[in-house]
Amino acid sequence: MIPYGKHYIDDDDIQAVVDVLKSGVLTQGHAVEAFERGIADYVGARYAVAVSSGTAALHLAALAASVGPGTTLVTSPITFVASANAGAYAGGKVAFADIDPKTANMSPMALAETLASNPNTRAIVPVHFAGLPCDMSTIKHLADKAGAVVIEDAAHALGARYPDGRRVGCCADSLMTIFSFHPVKAIAAGEGGMITTNDDGVYRHLLRLRSHGINKFDDPLLLKNQAFTDGVQNPWYYEMQELGFHYRITDIQCALGYSQLRKLDSFLARRRALVKRYDEGLAGLRHVHPAQVSGRERSGHHLYVVRIDFESVGMSRNTLMLTLRQRGIGTQVHYIPVPMQPYYRAQGDTVAACPNACAYYEQALTLPLFYDLSDSEQTHVINVLKELLA
Ligand SMILES: *Cc1c(COP(=O)(O)O)cnc(C)c1O
Repeated sequence: MIPYGKHYIDDDDIQAVVDVLKSGVLTQGHAVEAFERGIADYVGARYAVAVSSGTAALHLAALAASVGPGTTLVTSPITFVASANAGAYAGGKVAFADIDPKTANMSPMALAETLASNPNTRAIVPVHFAGLPCDMSTIKHLADKAGAVVIEDAAHALGARYPDGRRVGCCADSLMTIFSFHPVKAIAAGEGGMITTNDDGVYRHLLRLRSHGINKFDDPLLLKNQAFTDGVQNPWYYEMQELGFHYRITDIQCALGYSQLRKLDSFLARRRALVKRYDEGLAGLRHVHPAQVSGRERSGHHLYVVRIDFESVGMSRNTLMLTLRQRGIGTQVHYIPVPMQPYYRAQGDTVAACPNACAYYEQALTLPLFYDLSDSEQTHVINVLKELLA
């Protein structure tokens, strides 16, 4: 069975994990800092904070952006539920800005409308869908006008570049960017996430939130009479200054992530080549089109999504997916529009405001794309699709 996505682990990765296991330090050690430094340097951000998952990263980013009761977080309807849930975790309202059908990313025009009807928007979470960077300069401009901050969900986009050549995650047009290291993503840590930022205050806040809300480094202590004896700081003393979480990640995971990071550029090169082969191989199919048409030379190529006109083909998506599965080919749908989920439907009807997301959803199918997908496996996928859809 060829899955739609999977990780790739080599002997270096295994050795990196074994080294941690033998080192005597399993968590809160140097592998976490090394991975953080590695990601920050790679994307060109000042700071990076590693956490237990991409979802935890989104949650802490929403809190650091002061999303809370009475405020709104706006995201794309075409994303994993976690992008929206971050707003709900923080006690805020969640609203959606429809996609641009050409990119499947949040449309700046739709965002302007959503902001107009949600004047208390505190955070905008654009999602670089399938690795294709969003129009960040326009989104940043709208955010500034609305008094909101931008948190980029780059779970798909490690290694992707903006039009000016800088890497996604440098936070030139955002306060924070989050990544995920789930095994289907660009690099794997088992589970894991990262937040990058250039803001010193946000960085320190994230460090506290990651670990129970307890003070870090030289954070000023609030209760001086408890903290000091005759002017000398008490060695046992710490302060929980706000309600934080235990969202730490282990050295075991970070050693794997860091080892994988060194292979990221070759992972990306192979994904790019596979995408080109799909584009060429599927070009003759009249009712099948790549979901993203431009800017893809800068993409992180997390997913290869096609839009299939199932009505014209005369076959349902259900039949196609099950037939492909019988032929050894795994596919998936990314994503069911988040406002269609029962939890979000119950918060008020936001589906109607996302017609492009709904039309996209009717047609979307994700084909297998991962580093060690072989040419012959991919040719099999292309040939079976041609046979079924011609
Ligand atoms: C995977 C993913 C997340 C969540 O990451 P986890 O590490 O699985 O928690 C968030 N947003 C998007 C767009 C994702 O694809």
